[in-house]
Formats: sequence, structure tokens, C-alpha cells
Amino acid sequence: MLEVTRLHSRYGRIPALRGVDLKVAAGELVALVGANGAGKTTLLRAISGVQPSSEGQVHFDGQDLAGRHARQRVQLGIVQVPEGRQVFGPMTVEDNLLLGTFARGARGTIDGVLALFPDLIAKRRELAGNLSGGQQQMLAIGRALMARPRLLLLDEPSMGLAPRLVADIFTRIAALKAVGTTILLVDQNARAALGIADRGYVMETGRIVLAGPARELLHDPEVQRAYLGVHA
Ligand code: ATP
Repeated sequence: MLEVTRLHSRYGRIPALRGVDLKVAAGELVALVGANGAGKTTLLRAISGVQPSSEGQVHFDGQDLAGRHARQRVQLGIVQVPEGRQVFGPMTVEDNLLLGTFARGARGTIDGVLALFPDLIAKRRELAGNLSGGQQQMLAIGRALMARPRLLLLDEPSMGLAPRLVADIFTRIAALKAVGTTILLVDQNARAALGIADRGYVMETGRIVLAGPARELLHDPEVQRAYLGVHA
């Protein structure tokens, strides 16, 4: 479904992506892990079209996305949940969800999305800014699901959440995959992300340095040492 080929991107003179190759097949959950500043967010933003790329290609369903801006990519079904949730605090939960349908046209239903995140049902008419961090993350994912994504890009969904909520959010992401959602997941919590993924990529300083089945990466000594806190 998604094929990224030799992709480069820079911030002024600073290179952030230096020839990235990555694929996501329909129905897969792919985890992208790596240290702070490796370029994970930049890669997601380059796929969704909010960050320009200077070289290389992104193909979606065999179609070259060059020249297609972010809004057109949403219309094709590429929907990103940004790092830090970025829900609209002064708006209600319901209105935040409705905004998710804006660029792609009304698709999902509020009731359908709330059924996936029952914690939000009672909060439907509350302001998003009053929700807990975990609830805001669920709302951010719910808002993306309102657009019925064909490819869901999740950036650091567990960031800043208490450990109990981290486990909960990964369980819900696994459940989204189980119903057929195709997901590219970026998370600092490499163990949890690889734990629910089919395949994984490890990124360092703008390059993919390792790729393979998630289970194999979890047992790779280099990954264990660098990202899983396992000491030999
Ligand atoms: P994190 O987990 O901290 O978000 P990341 O792997 O997502 O890290 P990016 O945020 O993509 O990494 O950053 C990749 C590189 O680009 C880093 O060197 C970072 O300092 C730089 N960078 C990111 N955003 C900008 C920006 N707006 N302006 C200049 N440099 C940036």
C-alpha cells in the first residue's frame, strides 16, 4: 500500500531523512522505532505531505504522491495522528471528532468511533481540553478514524502517559489492526510498539539501519541493547 523509496528531507541545511526506504502492506501494523531526533516524525510528516521531501518518492497504492499536498493525501486516505495529540481544547469531544471528517468528507460516525473508545462516551459534550492525557490521545486517534483512514500514521501515541494507560493505548492500537486498519506506528516505547507490530524498522540519524519481522527485532541483541534497555 505504501512504498517509500530513497526519501530525503531537510530543515534548511540540516538533513533529517537521508535516503529512507520503507514499505507498509495493506492490513499490516508496522512499527518505526529509534532514538530522539532519528527522523521518525519527519518521515511521517513527509508521507502525509506536511513536510517537503527533497529527493526520493512516496507511492500509495502504486500512485506517485509527488506534487500532492497534505489535503489531497488525506482524501486518498492517509491520515496522521500528530505527536502531542493536538486536540482542539476549547471545543467539545464531539466537535473534535467531527473535524476529523472535514478534509475527507463525512465518513465515520461519532457513535461508531465512540464505541471503540467507551471512556469518551460520557465526555461527548465536554471540552477536549478538560480530558486527561490518555483520553486526549484516544480522542486524537478517534478524530483520525472519523476520516476512515486507509493508512493511519500514529506519532508517539504513548508519549507522556502513565504506564497503565500506555498498556491500554497499545491494546487499542492492536485492536484497530485486528479489524483491518493499516498502521504505521512511531513510538519511543520500542518494546511495546514492536510487541504489537507485524514488522519493524529501526531508524538512526535519518536512515533505516535495521528492518525485519517485529519478533525478530525484539530478539536482536543490538536492538535490545540500544532500545530495549537489555544489558548483556
Ligand atoms: P523525536 O522522537 O524527538 O520526535 P524523531 O525521530 O521524530 O525524534 P525528528 O523530529 O523527525 O526526529 O527530527 C529529525 C531531525 O530533524 C533532528 O535532528 C531534529 O533536530 C531536526 N528537526 C526536527 N524538526 C525540525 C525543525 N522544525 N527545524 C529544524 N530541525 C528540525
